[in-house]
Amino acid sequence: MSGKKIYAVLIPALLAIAGIVIVQGFWLKNAWDSGKRAFEEKVHIALTKVAEDISNLTRAQLPATDLISQMSGNYYIVHLNQTIDANSLEFYLKREFEDINLITDFEYGIYDCYTDQMVYGNYITKESETREKVENQLPKYNDFIYYFGVRFPNKTKFIYSVWWLPLLLSSILLLSIFFILYALKELISQRKLSRMQKSFINNMTHEMKTPLSSLKISAEVLSKSHIISKDPRLSQYVQIMLDQSEHLNSQVNRVLEIASTQTANFRLKKEKLNAISEIAIIRELMIKRYNLRKEQISMNSGETKDIYADSFHFKNIIKNILDNAIKYSIGTIAVDIQIFSLAHTLVLQFSDKGIGIDQKDLENIGKQFFRVDQGDLHRVKGFGLGLHYVVNVCKAHKWEFRINSIKDIGTTVKIEIPYG
Ligand code: ATP
Ligand code: MG
Repeated sequence: MSGKKIYAVLIPALLAIAGIVIVQGFWLKNAWDSGKRAFEEKVHIALTKVAEDISNLTRAQLPATDLISQMSGNYYIVHLNQTIDANSLEFYLKREFEDINLITDFEYGIYDCYTDQMVYGNYITKESETREKVENQLPKYNDFIYYFGVRFPNKTKFIYSVWWLPLLLSSILLLSIFFILYALKELISQRKLSRMQKSFINNMTHEMKTPLSSLKISAEVLSKSHIISKDPRLSQYVQIMLDQSEHLNSQVNRVLEIASTQTANFRLKKEKLNAISEIAIIRELMIKRYNLRKEQISMNSGETKDIYADSFHFKNIIKNILDNAIKYSIGTIAVDIQIFSLAHTLVLQFSDKGIGIDQKDLENIGKQFFRVDQGDLHRVKGFGLGLHYVVNVCKAHKWEFRINSIKDIGTTVKIEIPYG
């Protein structure tokens, strides 16, 4: 996905997430408010009933106005027209709160106009134990003569007990959003890193190619000089310069080719190819390069048809696969190439009897820079880029790439190329 496309998806996604968070916030606040309202309604209903119970007992009239006043968040005053008996009040409070299912601690006190104090207080807990009588703890209210006050110290806790479900659901949602955002952040930073890596490889290789070409040309000029050709020691040094610059040049070219498959404008130049003859040429080349006997790379082919492929990349991937088959063979090198047709596909199969790959490493084969850990031996040199390149080229052609291997027995690489 290109940078622009990512942002085109990312911005609406972030806006949607912000919307969800805001809606969740409103929902939570509403849930809290309605919990609070429900609590207050219950208190009003219960306290009205208590006032009615007391007035029924004594047959006194209830005040026409200001029966119940909420003095603070959790403190209520019930105004009556008569003296209040503490025992009856506690009995009615308990009964009415229980009836309306308002099961929470409460504290009550009765105003005594003679002493101008809140008296006969009691603290009632859910555990049905009552605390010591608490006097003078509840605030007074000077406008009335007969009243009692009720305080709910655990009002917030009570509202929480109905609020926990919305809170839990919102927390799960917010946690999921957090993980999604974290994954997005990781994804973006990985994209950035891989883009930086590609541009670094590109710049480095370009920077190296110019001085390398100059070195090569200079060494070639030197090798043609009479003074050098007369002196065998100097000729040998110049030859080393030539060989090494050639080697370095081919390595830089490999990295460049691999980097080119990773750019957005990687285009295949497909043409008609005869896989058998192309592979046969590369086989000869490898036999020469590694000083092998012909039978060390055997080749069998059946009836096949031409394929459409990018010739340059096709040759490179065969070179990479054969290079591995030879490099990772210890002792005897015995590589076998099979080329045959299945219904609508051409199959290229390269098997070796080399060191093989452990099953746990197989899934990482083809990842950029992955090399099987060979301890401190480092017998075989490499970048861990060859098969990554092969995988990329196969993917671009829509070919199937498979690798099977058994440790210490050998490896088989298979490429399936659909005809047409
Ligand atoms: P280079 O970039 O020079 O090719 P490389 O050979 O290490 O370096 P790849 O060709 O991508 O990188 O191979 C990745 C790893 O897979 C190798 O380091 C090696 O451990 C393992 N491997 C690949 N082919 C074979 C094989 N035929 N037999 C055993 N191991 C192999
Ligand atoms: Mg390799």
